[in-house]
Amino acid sequence: MADTDAMNNAPEASDTAAADGVGCHAGKAELQRAARAAGKSETLARYAADYPQGPHDQPQSMCPAFGSLRVGLRMRRTATVLCGSACCVYGLTFTSHFYGARRTVNYVPFNSETLVTGKLFEDIREAVFALADPANYDAIVIINLCVPTASGVPLQLLPKEIDGVRIIGIDVPGFGVPTHAEAKDVLAGAMLRYARQEASHGPVQAPRGGRQAKPTVTMLGEMFPADPVGIGMMLEPMGLAAGPVVPTREWRELYAALDCVAVAAVHPFYTASLREFAAAGRPVVGSAPIGIDGTAAWLASVGDACGVSKDKVALAQNRVLPAIKAALAGAPIKGRITLSGYEGSELLVARLLIESGAQVPYVGTACPRTNWSDVDREWLEAKGVHVQFRASLEQDLAALREFEPDLAIGTTPVVQKAKERATPALYFTNLISARPLMGAAGAGSLAQVVCGALGNKARFDTMREFFDGVGTSFAAGVWQDPPVDNPQFRERYKAQIAKAAAKRRTEEPV
Ligand code: SF4
Repeated sequence: MADTDAMNNAPEASDTAAADGVGCHAGKAELQRAARAAGKSETLARYAADYPQGPHDQPQSMCPAFGSLRVGLRMRRTATVLCGSACCVYGLTFTSHFYGARRTVNYVPFNSETLVTGKLFEDIREAVFALADPANYDAIVIINLCVPTASGVPLQLLPKEIDGVRIIGIDVPGFGVPTHAEAKDVLAGAMLRYARQEASHGPVQAPRGGRQAKPTVTMLGEMFPADPVGIGMMLEPMGLAAGPVVPTREWRELYAALDCVAVAAVHPFYTASLREFAAAGRPVVGSAPIGIDGTAAWLASVGDACGVSKDKVALAQNRVLPAIKAALAGAPIKGRITLSGYEGSELLVARLLIESGAQVPYVGTACPRTNWSDVDREWLEAKGVHVQFRASLEQDLAALREFEPDLAIGTTPVVQKAKERATPALYFTNLISARPLMGAAGAGSLAQVVCGALGNKARFDTMREFFDGVGTSFAAGVWQDPPVDNPQFRERYKAQIAKAAAKRRTEEPV
């Protein structure tokens, strides 16, 4: 039935033709118009509700589809297929292998003819049937990038399974999904939905290590591998265990993730995934066991959500809080730090920095504000922190200028700008979000890298003094000889441009 409806909604060749040639250069509005005309209105409306945009309306970091691709590539027995422009696929494949994918990125190429005539969909279908071997795969993920989404390539018409291999088709256009963090949710949510429907129809596979004896708390959002282990130890006195981390590393973990007593929205922007947990009747807890305040409050919230007695919650708190307190006291952070990123854990890191003794005037995250980030936002705002959701690069750079931090933690362009100013800087994605953050281990680990960077200020000053003026302004770029400025050329062009503008003005009709 669903397939028949989808058939009726299939795009007309004229709609697809309208999108042909509408590449990245055409702009977001044009791509959205084409996608709507080609039958993707429902998908775009859902994304607009799940991932609200603004103040900037275009991704300012990597291609959002990388988030979905990464989730697929990290799963066992899962094949991932991209459909999009060759330049986009090249970039996504390169980035995947840069981050150590060690899996094949499959690709169905297209040209104007296959896109316009609908042959592209037939090519995708053929590729999926060729791949769908149950001996190799549990699932195949097909990701429509910008142009196929704008052209309405109807992945919903693919069979839902082939010989027991699940087929998951998703649209992940840059003009509908603002960040790669949220694109992880697009795929995780689609998989949870599929797994929930399977579980509602009968018995499903148990986790690889068997079902947990204790009730579990599922973690939502990628985290350092040691963090779920530490969280499990914190939950133990409450009679609970740490469940799987979503996005999962294997299909069967999806059932275990749904089979929980509560969900910890450690990354608070997984809106589609949370919809599936809500449909399964699972309560949600925001924030994470981070620092002293965060851990005490989080354990209490989990206890409330899971019906654990106050005594047991207190037992869990008393067991872990002294160790966190000692770790924070033993590794203090002194200095003013601005922080920005696009991973979704920025508010948590800021909390830990503040509890370690740092002054944090600004936190920018590319992710949107949600109900589940309120706990952390309120805590930070009470400490005088400016929290900027959907932060633009311009806002992050303005914070750098305004607060003149001793250390800037941020995205690549923020770190570049900070280093130009001789301000020590750390990449959020590679150096901060790839470390343990929870419990006592998180406190010590974060302080180690942050204090190391803060101690580099003198080296930056020396380098700045040594290189003063080199490679800046007119001397930027690669030169064979010592650079020589020619201000007279610029003056001459400026005069010519002004003359041409004046001429245009006199020729304009009154
Ligand atoms: S798929 Fe879209 S957002 Fe991603 S690189 Fe291509 S044009 Fe850019």
